[in-house]
Amino acid sequence: MDTRLAEILVCPVCKGPLSINDQRNELHCAKCALGFPIIEEIPSMLANEARALTPEECDKARVKPAQE
Ligand SMILES: [Zn+2]
Repeated sequence: MDTRLAEILVCPVCKGPLSINDQRNELHCAKCALGFPIIEEIPSMLANEARALTPEECDKARVKPAQE
């Protein structure tokens, strides 16, 4: 998936940044602990289709502060 796409996408619940999980093909919101599936390159940004993330996944999804 194009990483630039994730940069323009925000969590539909908290409007916060999302991070891509390539292994699961999901977009993760660490704040809400939700994972949004990416189906055929199209992210499904519906809260009711999201999956609850494990604490470990939340940790990985935490978006690092912008730099460089
Ligand atoms: Zn969120």
